[in-house]
Amino acid sequence: MMAPPRPEAWCSLPWLSLEFSDAMGIRPCSHSRDFFPLSSTNLHDLWRSRDMGNARYEIVSGRRPKGCSSCTQLEDQGMKSPRQIENEKQPFKDHRALEKLALTSSPFEFSMRLEEGVTSILSFPENQTVIRNWAPTLQKISFQGDEPFRHSSFLSTLKTLRSSGEAGHVNLTFFSDLGNFENEVTELIPHFRKTEVFLNFLDFGSRQDFINSHKWETIEKNLRKYQALSGERTSIVILCRVNIFNMFSLAEILEWLKANFPEFKISLDFQSATREFSIRNLPPKAKSELGHILKFITADSYNFIEGSGVRPVLEYLGLEGDIHLIRSGVTLFLQSHNRLEEDFKRQFPKLSGFIQETV
Ligand code: SF4
Repeated sequence: MMAPPRPEAWCSLPWLSLEFSDAMGIRPCSHSRDFFPLSSTNLHDLWRSRDMGNARYEIVSGRRPKGCSSCTQLEDQGMKSPRQIENEKQPFKDHRALEKLALTSSPFEFSMRLEEGVTSILSFPENQTVIRNWAPTLQKISFQGDEPFRHSSFLSTLKTLRSSGEAGHVNLTFFSDLGNFENEVTELIPHFRKTEVFLNFLDFGSRQDFINSHKWETIEKNLRKYQALSGERTSIVILCRVNIFNMFSLAEILEWLKANFPEFKISLDFQSATREFSIRNLPPKAKSELGHILKFITADSYNFIEGSGVRPVLEYLGLEGDIHLIRSGVTLFLQSHNRLEEDFKRQFPKLSGFIQETV
């Protein structure tokens, strides 16, 4: 019999979780740097594939799979890795427990990355059957990447889980922008154990001309629909990247959100996709204005995303305080430079000079 794996290499995720992307392939978790190519169009075959088996075998043999270097690096720097966090959460201390429980035939967590313009194999009837078969052990399903309401596989998967009668023990997570909403989702969400919706509220300082060309009326209407859904089992988190284009109206908009949608959580992220939009590169004369705004935001204890770049910003402004950091897998958003620059100049003509100094 094989010896138990070394605790420093042990990670239960290759036995419990699968992340799938039509464009990139599969990997055991979102922290892994290795996507294995798609050797099949059947999700169950991919879950039982040689590549996933090799990753499990590496761990059982006391080694870390190559793609797991992200965890190794964090641990080498003295930081807690997702592997360690997961090991604390999961009761499985070695693979024998997992195999004994015969749980290897189905993942506990399935994460789907939707790709823009790609019809996912998840929408294939055979894969909806796989999802139905996985339902009894599935605990979490998440959709990331492209806007889910543009993919038929999103709603069909929710319907499959609901009709399996097993959705009641599945936690659902998805990311969406506020320009899209399908009313069907309001009927489906209450069937799930818990739902977490992350709403990409990009550049919400630009109320009249939203970056994705969605009319403000649509955004407000959809905010109300999410509000009707929110409750003990459904949490709504608004994600916003603070940058030079929204920082001056942020306080006003946050006030409005707080007054009208007190149930929503708000997470602010300070990593700008491009250097010139980052509030960290502002000229000194903008610093006091920004400090004033951030004082307002931090005083209200909004959530800040761990790794969002908030710490250096607060240090820069001398505002380090008791900030609650949360972990979240937030995608970086690319911004349209020209559009935003025009937008900013129109809204803040007196401040547009800052752009000249910061670009
Ligand atoms: S060791 Fe880290 S990267 Fe590898 S599967 Fe576990 S959590 Fe994911």
